[in-house]
Amino acid sequence: MRVTEERRKVAVIGGGVTGLTAAYYLQRSAQRNSLPIDVVLIESSLRLGGKIQTLRKDGFIVERGPESFLDYKNSVRGLAKDLGIEQQMVPNNDGRTYVAVGSHLYPIPNLLAFGSALEVSSFITSGLLSLSGKLRAAGDLLLPKTKDDEDEPIGDFFRRRFGKEVVENLVEPLLAGTFAGDIDHLSIKAMFPQFYQLEKQHRSLILGLKKSGESLRNEHHIESYQTFQNGLETLIESLEAHLSPNSILKGVKVESIDRLNDGSVQIFSNNIAPIKCDAVIMTTPFNAAKEVLDHSGLLDDIPKMQYATIATVTMAFKQDESKKYKDAMNFFVSRNSDFAITTCTWCNHKWNDVAPAGYDLLRVYIGRVGDEAIVELSDSDIEKTVLQDLERAIGLEDAPLFTVVSRWKESMPQYTVGHDNRTEFMRQQLHREYPNVKLVGSSYEGISVPDCVTQGKNIAEELLKEMFEIQYA
Ligand SMILES: Cc1cc2nc3c(=O)[nH]c(=O)nc-3n(C[C@H](O)[C@H](O)[C@H](O)COP(=O)(O)OP(=O)(O)OC[C@H]3O[C@@H](n4cnc5c(N)ncnc54)[C@H](O)[C@@H]3O)c2cc1C
Repeated sequence: MRVTEERRKVAVIGGGVTGLTAAYYLQRSAQRNSLPIDVVLIESSLRLGGKIQTLRKDGFIVERGPESFLDYKNSVRGLAKDLGIEQQMVPNNDGRTYVAVGSHLYPIPNLLAFGSALEVSSFITSGLLSLSGKLRAAGDLLLPKTKDDEDEPIGDFFRRRFGKEVVENLVEPLLAGTFAGDIDHLSIKAMFPQFYQLEKQHRSLILGLKKSGESLRNEHHIESYQTFQNGLETLIESLEAHLSPNSILKGVKVESIDRLNDGSVQIFSNNIAPIKCDAVIMTTPFNAAKEVLDHSGLLDDIPKMQYATIATVTMAFKQDESKKYKDAMNFFVSRNSDFAITTCTWCNHKWNDVAPAGYDLLRVYIGRVGDEAIVELSDSDIEKTVLQDLERAIGLEDAPLFTVVSRWKESMPQYTVGHDNRTEFMRQQLHREYPNVKLVGSSYEGISVPDCVTQGKNIAEELLKEMFEIQYA
């Protein structure tokens, strides 16, 4: 290890989970290794957390943004351990998942199986598909693999393997409910690389999953969704508490970054003096980063990214003993169904302690690419529309005790076909012109909270290695 005496300054732009994780690991390593490095975290809003936002209200825990995560590689667990909050991580309760087709709810096998690329065959045998749909899906066992190595839309990929019905009743609803995306534009390579590889290696996805399913399950230790006892914002609060308070600038919007002759960079913002630093980690959405770097012309060849506008609507109800779906955790909505909502979760079935005894807490998503106007409606119109859908889907007729509408404008990055190539090209451009400016976060290598934590930690390691030739500790 070689540590220079010269003091270095690193700015982390964006105080979402990616930026906070990067700042935390930079600061921790600086303290542990006595590195001469100062970290400053710059966030445009007055709070940290970005998309992660928990409202604690009258004994209810309402997640305005993400409500849980699948920690395939234990990245959040690792961070929680480092922060001393691992004990506060909780797994979800068991519960059934349904897909609404028309106004009928069909139970489907464990959703984790789909999310983790396991047991697709069990979906195919579920009651959700017609006989001809099942026969077409079984065609996957016989069909040759594609000779093409090119990226393709998720919809085309699964239609090719399993037919139209699987796509309409399973793939589309699950993806619309999770990524609010248009499967005819989203990239199979960027979003489901495991499926892309399965076809390459095993030809048939069903056979490939059979062969590799168990090892995938063991490798990833997939058991359940996770959150924190007192809500996801626990992670943000703990990260903030671990950072030195004078390293955090809230309410400061970065407007541009310039390269100086000595190789360092200068950050210009809306309301404070320019900050000179040796490296910058930008964790804002890509379009915000593109604006900040606009004057350099560096990202001109990379088009703006598309983001879906969605809203979460959480409602509390007095519990009705005669209610249906007591075993339900959530349902997704088939595109063929005439609903405004795309997915619904019974939060108090999925998690303990998110609602006082005797109350139900339901959370739905509305809006997806191409169907976003609903998010612009007033809160009361959104509430009315959601209640109509819930009455048709699950027979709920009660009035809610309260409703929390959280709008997320242009918030869900869409990894469209060619995403990986564009990201690689962008990184090469940056490396050539601004080698000490790094772009990471949900616009690049994974949208989920664990993916963002991984990117934040990895970039801190990469930078320390570049600056001090230090292997991360
Ligand atoms: C409604 C919703 C539900 C979701 N559900 C789940 C889920 O259940 N599970 C899951 O794993 N993931 C989920 N996600 C995805 C996940 O929450 C996000 O991808 C992740 O939190 C993004 O973190 P980030 O730090 O990369 O970006 P962000 O959280 O977007 O943080 C970026 C920060 O940069 C700041 N910023 C922007 N421009 C500037 C500027 N010019 N100067 C300074 N600061 C700036 C912003 O204010 C923001 O705080 C969900 C997302 C949404 C919106």
